[in-house]
Amino acid sequence: MAHQHRIHRSEPIRTTSWVPSCWKRISHCLLSTARLHIIARVTGKSVSRQSYGRIHIENRGPYRQKSGNKPEDNKQGPDSNSTRQQEAKPLVQSLNPGSRNTTYNAWGHSRTTSGHRTRTHSLGASSRMFSYQDYTVGWICALAIELAAAKGMLDEVHTDLPARKFDDNTYILGRIGSHNIVITCLPAGRYGAITAATVATRMLLTFQSIRFGLMVGIGGGVPIGDIRLGDIVVGMPTPQSGGVLQCDAYFERTSTLNKPPVVLLNAVSKIKAQHIMNGNRIPQILADMLTAYPLMRSSTKPAEPDKLFHADYEHKNPPGSCSECDERHLIARPPRNSNTPRIHYGPIASANQVVKSGILRDHLARRLGNLCFEMEAAGLMDNFPCLVIRGISDYADSHKNDHWQGYAAATAAAYAKELLSVIPPEEVENELLVSELYSRL
Ligand SMILES: [Zn+2]
Repeated sequence: MAHQHRIHRSEPIRTTSWVPSCWKRISHCLLSTARLHIIARVTGKSVSRQSYGRIHIENRGPYRQKSGNKPEDNKQGPDSNSTRQQEAKPLVQSLNPGSRNTTYNAWGHSRTTSGHRTRTHSLGASSRMFSYQDYTVGWICALAIELAAAKGMLDEVHTDLPARKFDDNTYILGRIGSHNIVITCLPAGRYGAITAATVATRMLLTFQSIRFGLMVGIGGGVPIGDIRLGDIVVGMPTPQSGGVLQCDAYFERTSTLNKPPVVLLNAVSKIKAQHIMNGNRIPQILADMLTAYPLMRSSTKPAEPDKLFHADYEHKNPPGSCSECDERHLIARPPRNSNTPRIHYGPIASANQVVKSGILRDHLARRLGNLCFEMEAAGLMDNFPCLVIRGISDYADSHKNDHWQGYAAATAAAYAKELLSVIPPEEVENELLVSELYSRL
């Protein structure tokens, strides 16, 4: 995980400027970067030394960075020399796909064409500040464990932006691959489609460059097609549905919801092909997250066995544990020869109440044709073009407990990360803004 950054000082330089020969000699003698900045100040040029006699201007845009940091970067931090910050001229057009209109100066500050000034903190730190307009992908989850898994997927965590008066959401900002991501979570203890819709609306008002979203979290699986705990269900359209089936309190379908945006459907096709050829990268992504956040042991595969009881066998006491349930009622399933979770594509049923009955689950699944039950997605699909990704944490029966929730939240988040990795940033930029999309309806 690239939570630290290192400037490539040997990177090719876009802009080269020559200075008088006397300054060449001086620069040859004064090797330290700090001294070169003194030269820069005297000459009026923002410089660093690349080779003898030649002064280069470094590109310090976000995609020139990799892991690690050099101490001198901190010395040049934006808080250490405000005079230089004012003097330095914008030099390099950002390579950041999420901020086409942003320029970076030699000190790592950026300025958008809208005039909103942002800053990248000392480049070695894991925090950087962008503007609201720099974020193109919204990620919504419902539970704290889902939020933790989402943050664990970030390659880089950005500094928070100031809160806005109309927006009660809290956000985690960062980058996955070449995409700037804004993550938010439903308020604690509040679930369901209406809450999700409210949270999404606030996010879109604050981050108006968002092109699409991901709804990522846990769900109750329908045990057909060998769906098991920790597997992932992705809400994909069918001829009869848009991928998410909105249900009322009686689990009757109430309306037809929009499909996920084409850019995400294309990405699903691409990642499906990759998985057929090479398998998925979810175990590796989870291992990377655990390396970066060793305390997130709840995201590892639990020791509790994956038990699937016959639909008509009810759970016995105690609550939250099947220790008293009769294993003679278990459905025999062949063990898998791999710990790699599988990914299933199909409709997801979204209702404002939890399904906790095997008989009801099977009855509904036969009628709806869904692979999974959840509670929030129906609030998003018609207002926020997004893809729903659910890690299976239970079988929507009376044996439901939370033992697998952490792992299921993590596998869903890892799939989302892998999906984003196959989406070129240009495709995101080419998508309509959500606000534009709905103004045309
Ligand atoms: Zn049980």
